[in-house]
Amino acid sequence: MSNITPQPGILDITLYQGGAAHVPGVANVVKLSSNENPFGPSEAAKEAFRKASYHLHRYPSSDHAALRGAIAEVHGLDPERILCGNGSDEIIAFLCQAYAGPGDEVIHTEHGFGMYRISALANGATPVEVPERERVTDVDAILAAVTPATKLVFIANPNNPTGTMVGEGEIARLADGLPDHVLLVLDGAYAEYVEGYDGGAALVEQRANIVMTRTFSKLYGLGGLRVGWGYGPAHVMNVLARVRGPFNVSSAALAAAEAAIRDTEWAEKCREGNTRWRAWLAEALGEHGVSSDTSLANFILARFADQAEAEACDDYLKSEGLIVRRVGGYNLPNCLRITVGDEASCRRVAHAVGQFMATAR
Ligand SMILES: *Cc1c(COP(=O)(O)O)cnc(C)c1O
Repeated sequence: MSNITPQPGILDITLYQGGAAHVPGVANVVKLSSNENPFGPSEAAKEAFRKASYHLHRYPSSDHAALRGAIAEVHGLDPERILCGNGSDEIIAFLCQAYAGPGDEVIHTEHGFGMYRISALANGATPVEVPERERVTDVDAILAAVTPATKLVFIANPNNPTGTMVGEGEIARLADGLPDHVLLVLDGAYAEYVEGYDGGAALVEQRANIVMTRTFSKLYGLGGLRVGWGYGPAHVMNVLARVRGPFNVSSAALAAAEAAIRDTEWAEKCREGNTRWRAWLAEALGEHGVSSDTSLANFILARFADQAEAEACDDYLKSEGLIVRRVGGYNLPNCLRITVGDEASCRRVAHAVGQFMATAR
């Protein structure tokens, strides 16, 4: 026997379930469970990755200056206030580590991204779940949940797994309504999919209490490399810089991400493909009697009559080699989240849902 025990909160963490990638006994599987870019990364990013292989004995840059410079150039931001992480998950972790501990509260929404809760608990803080209004972030509910113990408010905009989004006016109203001891985190993992949306960058510039997080895992197709970044006011970024490990992003990841963000043509192509097939898929599902909210991201949250129907559909899709995501863990047991794939995948999954629905009801 030992008396070795972890910090409070750690054992309350439910292990994160990644999207499945295989179905035993089924070949030709299509993975639509992790919101990955079906077109993959840009050729320039792959080339940069290959070149980086010749220098793998060297430690990576610790100040990420080249990547920060590229991000700043492409997005028109101040490079000094950009901080790169091992995926944006790491930025979320830094924020919790730096600002939330035992006795502190971290607000996330009813169907908010799972890492907010995990990171809060990992630091001994208390996650506070706030209701949404019909699967949309509810600013008034968030403001009502704020207490003197609240340190952080996390919102993904567009949100995963709902795909819905709230406008800049609502976000500004939230930021203005928060007491001055609360930091608002805008998770822009899907911001690139929204035509003309800056992920909240303009709001960051105007206020001292907003941080934006972004990722290379979604539109840029680099989920396997783990690169994300944060942008915020100097006082916050200086704090995060202190908790960041000096070599938290690998050299190959830095090189590929820099090439990826400069390849705006490829990014545009991927965005256009997503917009087109997202609309097609939503309509096809609707024709089969499966409704969904208008999604602004690279997935659709398909709504079924109840949990039993959603799970039966998932089982059927799996038997057909189509892997989608169950979202019961996000308080959405009657839904399935389906990543927008390429044309062939969209047609396959729509057809299979149609087959299922023809026999289900
Ligand atoms: C995918 C996703 C992330 C990104 O994660 P990385 O760690 O950058 O791969 C962050 N937030 C949300 C809401 C996501 O869906």
